[in-house]
Amino acid sequence: MRALAADLTYVEDRFQSDVAVVFDEQDGRIDRVQPAARPTPGIEVERCSGCALVPGLVNAHSHAFQRAIRGRTQWRPLGEHADFWSWREAMYRAVLRLSPDDMYELARFCFIEMLLAGYTTVGEFHYVQRDERGAEYANPNELALQLIRAAQEVGIRIALLNVCYATGGVGEALREEQRRFGTPDLDRYLSHTEQLRSQVQGKPLVSVGLAPHSLRAVPSDWLAPIASHAREHDLPLHMHVAEQPAEVDACMRAYGRRPGELLADRGLLDARFTAVHATHLNTGEILALGQAGITVCACPTTERDLGDGIPSARELVDAGARLCIGSDSQTVIDPWEEMRSIEYHTRLATLRRVILAEEVGHGRSEVGPLLFRAGGANGAGSLKVDAGVIAPGKQADFVLIDLDHPSLAGWTQATLAAHLALCAPAAVVRDVWVAGRIRVQEGQHPALKAARPAFDAVCQRVLP
Ligand SMILES: [Zn+2]
Repeated sequence: MRALAADLTYVEDRFQSDVAVVFDEQDGRIDRVQPAARPTPGIEVERCSGCALVPGLVNAHSHAFQRAIRGRTQWRPLGEHADFWSWREAMYRAVLRLSPDDMYELARFCFIEMLLAGYTTVGEFHYVQRDERGAEYANPNELALQLIRAAQEVGIRIALLNVCYATGGVGEALREEQRRFGTPDLDRYLSHTEQLRSQVQGKPLVSVGLAPHSLRAVPSDWLAPIASHAREHDLPLHMHVAEQPAEVDACMRAYGRRPGELLADRGLLDARFTAVHATHLNTGEILALGQAGITVCACPTTERDLGDGIPSARELVDAGARLCIGSDSQTVIDPWEEMRSIEYHTRLATLRRVILAEEVGHGRSEVGPLLFRAGGANGAGSLKVDAGVIAPGKQADFVLIDLDHPSLAGWTQATLAAHLALCAPAAVVRDVWVAGRIRVQEGQHPALKAARPAFDAVCQRVLP
């Protein structure tokens, strides 16, 4: 057992002083949370002065390989316009050049960057599954296993969301450049996922979920069987939903219903379901998704990069949805920036301030608690991992914050949540624990230096 006592610890939705967190390094879980002064026989309480302890942040939506194209798509041919769809063409070009080793190298570096920023769990939405020619690998889960190997190597918790991708657009055949995504049929998708679950059984820090890619990529009659498989095996169920207006229009043309209506019809909407983006829902869809108790994964740094739009965050929360965050295309890897951007983008869209606020007593409402839940607990719930909060029995995934960092100067116990969620850079992260083991110490990850040259080489090759 170990015990950490920082100056402040984020417990029960607020920063509290004089708290010791006692955790078991063997089973990786928090044993108890108690007053720092209470004796802990046989355990020396380690004082972390000048620091605050917060739950590890959860990245509920990632495509690790897309880290390779960061900074390489920020241009357009003279006289042409650029948008989500033209970005997608560049991403497809990169995909066609990735070997299994490249996948591993990109993910290894990307996952280290996540740990350095304070993410302790990643939900990897994995859709590049076949080889360069579009054929199945000898082990159909070859690339999923490369991603899992990378996560294990660097010490981040991973929920591998195994993707089903069968059509090139709503009701259209898969395109040639999408050949590496192709799921041949529903039975094989589910059996490969089950095979993957048995291949990772017993591996620490690894779990598996289901992810029909989007209504663009999955025939609507596959959705109900996928949802019932998720229920039967108690797996998370994630899907890109209404990311672009063109996708909503295609859904209307093909099915005569909006995406939220179709998902409700097919029985996908319940507390297990996470809608990624949800940027183009109408009021009726927002109410239906909220009432079903789903989670919406906002990826604001990607949504602004790709010109996706801004989700109606306040309306979704009021309707009953939970918000979580994802780094998605890896344009930015910074959980604090994702958390605050949900709030700040909504301010730009509504010309108001302090939107995602909830009552904290003394006649005030604040945004810190909701943003912290979006960064931690809600993402953990969405991925069905037992983390995201500092509480007995939960995974010992924490982040130690350097309170002496210049960006935090002026903090108080009452303002620290707002300082972190709305103002500070990821450079405030000092140490990171996953499952009770330290993975980042004094801002350093031991594998970063070794991972960099191979990562740089892959970036240069896949999208020169
Ligand atoms: Zn995505």
